[in-house]
Amino acid sequence: MICPFCKADNDSVIDSREADAGAAVRRRRECNQCKRRFTTYERFERADRLVVVKRDGTRVPFNAANVLRGIVAACGKRAISEERKAEMVGEVEDELNREFEREVSSEEIGRRVAARLRATDDIAYIRFASEHKNFRRVEEIAQAVQEVLESPKDLPDQTKLFE
Ligand SMILES: [Zn+2]
Repeated sequence: MICPFCKADNDSVIDSREADAGAAVRRRRECNQCKRRFTTYERFERADRLVVVKRDGTRVPFNAANVLRGIVAACGKRAISEERKAEMVGEVEDELNREFEREVSSEEIGRRVAARLRATDDIAYIRFASEHKNFRRVEEIAQAVQEVLESPKDLPDQTKLFE
């Protein structure tokens, strides 16, 4: 794997374990060059790749790298780990594979990514939403910001608070 930090192609797997109830293998890796650690997920590839229907009606094969690119762009320099970004992509991909047979709209994918960013980082969410929802006026962005301010963030691990 190419190291996400220094781009060297020289790493060691330091831990492997099952993830998503056996649907994926999570590997913790350490770059042998810069010594930083990152995580990869290995999944089965569907023979019949999911097709994404874009806003203009064109169809393209689903590509997790495109989802990651959107997330990375939205996160910018926010303090969100590479691991969390990869995790969001994996969660969205698994959901889509479970819930859609052949086609899914790019809006639907965007909604699912936005929901995760919303629970992770408000600024990244607003950035993503302003791209994804194709806001035309600054008032629409202000409205989205207002919604963030008014409704409390969903805590992803809320259940743990009650254990
Ligand atoms: Zn490295």
